[in-house]
Amino acid sequence: MNIQIFIISENEDLHLLEDCLAGMQGCKTKVYRGIFNAISELMKRPADLIIIDTEGFRSSSGEILEAINRACPESQLIIISGHLNGKMPEAYNDGAGLYNSNVICSFSRPFVIDKLFKIIKEYIKRKSSDSQLQGNINMGNDSYGSRHDSTCADRYYTEKLLMSISNMDELTDIIVQVSTGKVNAEKCSLMLLDEDGQTLSINKAKGFNGNQSVVKDSKIKLGEGIAGLVALEGKALLVTDMNNERKFRTKYSVRYKSSSFISIPLKIKSDIMGVLNLTDKIDNHCFTEQDLHSLSTFIAYASAAIKNALIFKKLQNLSVTDGLTGLYNRRHFYNCLKKEIIRSGRYGRNFILAILDIDNFKHYNDTYGHLAGDSVLKQVSEILKIHTRSIDIVARYGGEEFAIIFPETHDSDNLMAATVSGLHFPERLRMAVEGYNFSNISNGEKLGVTISGGVARFPHDGTTEKGLVSIADENLYYAKRGGRNMIYVDRICPGKQNVQKNTAFSGYVAQELPVRLHTEKALLGCH
Ligand code: GH3
Ligand code: MG
Ligand code: MG
Repeated sequence: MNIQIFIISENEDLHLLEDCLAGMQGCKTKVYRGIFNAISELMKRPADLIIIDTEGFRSSSGEILEAINRACPESQLIIISGHLNGKMPEAYNDGAGLYNSNVICSFSRPFVIDKLFKIIKEYIKRKSSDSQLQGNINMGNDSYGSRHDSTCADRYYTEKLLMSISNMDELTDIIVQVSTGKVNAEKCSLMLLDEDGQTLSINKAKGFNGNQSVVKDSKIKLGEGIAGLVALEGKALLVTDMNNERKFRTKYSVRYKSSSFISIPLKIKSDIMGVLNLTDKIDNHCFTEQDLHSLSTFIAYASAAIKNALIFKKLQNLSVTDGLTGLYNRRHFYNCLKKEIIRSGRYGRNFILAILDIDNFKHYNDTYGHLAGDSVLKQVSEILKIHTRSIDIVARYGGEEFAIIFPETHDSDNLMAATVSGLHFPERLRMAVEGYNFSNISNGEKLGVTISGGVARFPHDGTTEKGLVSIADENLYYAKRGGRNMIYVDRICPGKQNVQKNTAFSGYVAQELPVRLHTEKALLGCH
């Protein structure tokens, strides 16, 4: 039985899940870019799990979910929606809708891709064990795949490999440890094929001790030496007497105790990912066909896990989220800024870009420690999320810097009006941070945390990414120089003269500024 999974999304990050899930047996995944194709397909053959990304589709989430429910009422759903600042989309918020009973969980962008993948894996595992699939993974059609010995130990390690899928380092560690143990080898190296597909580099090695650095730096070309040939041909090689195989000697000359060698390709079907080399059998004997056989099942599982880990890495690179704060990352911010410039330029709209920076954060880290610093970063991020609109793009721009795009924020070419509204949105964030009750995670001590910000307005201050960011940066610099805990636009902070220095960590605490009240009133239309 196959578990049918549909991924319905216009976003590339989710499309990569198809490859990620391809390594799991008993599970068939298909990507649909358009909702209508997906629905018509669903009416023909039901899906067990549907991962639906409602961002980018013209119909509302509610309409989409209702249509899916009608087409395939038994499908389980994982829902990804646009940026909702942590709020649930209304369509499935109240538990009473027609379409919500099968929702396993929902994510709003930005979300951490690891969490989504974990939930999908858990679903597959649950479903597999229901149908006696027991979480086997696809071993590919390799030359030794037909002789699997599915012992409990293999299943245990397979499970472990799958669990460590998002961490290549841990994964290759396990592969090296288990392989050497299985055939009593003293030395082992795991080589991975570089992205260019032409060079093998050692990713992990065991037993080389003094030669560790030589081994670490080693790279060989496809077709060169034993490992290079094995990678090129995709066939495992058992050399019983290396002295007869001088033509195979690799560039890195490591002295071997015994003259026997095993080199196995790590591959899924014809897709080569690397090579595992084993030598120096502990009892000085030669490796045997039996050794090769006993490795085969494990290596097939290992190959699938490596493939998944590589895809996962790619997926993470494509990911739009910052791991610590859950905000959008810098790359995504630039993508959004590019789009917003095009959109606003085309439709004659205006927007504001603000760069915010936590004041005296280094001092805070030095005094309370890095962990406490991280906690402040997370809390500030939460405040920024809560106090922005769903259409605003909130990103972690750097260490303790945030960049925010506020679309549709002012609509006047009048400099004063633009200045006033340009200040309003980031000013609201500055006040929220200033007013928040931060506490030190280690002792609960109350802390004052403040932010400074620089604003740039499109198109008034610039019409390019670079131009806008540099103006916002410049204004941030003036805000810092002007005493911190303030927002600058046009190199000025209208309330600057009212800011007084404070001795607390926050450094400076702004007094209630007339201009802020004026700003609020002006925006509310009560001036
Ligand atoms: P200013 O008010 O001028 O911005 O001073 P500052 O101390 O905030 O700025 P500075 O650039 O001197 O220091 C920034 C500090 O932020 C230094 C670095 O250790 C810290 N930092 C950057 N990223 C992280 C992070 O992810 N976690 C923690 N805890 N600290 C970080
Ligand atoms: Mg900084
Ligand atoms: Mg700072």
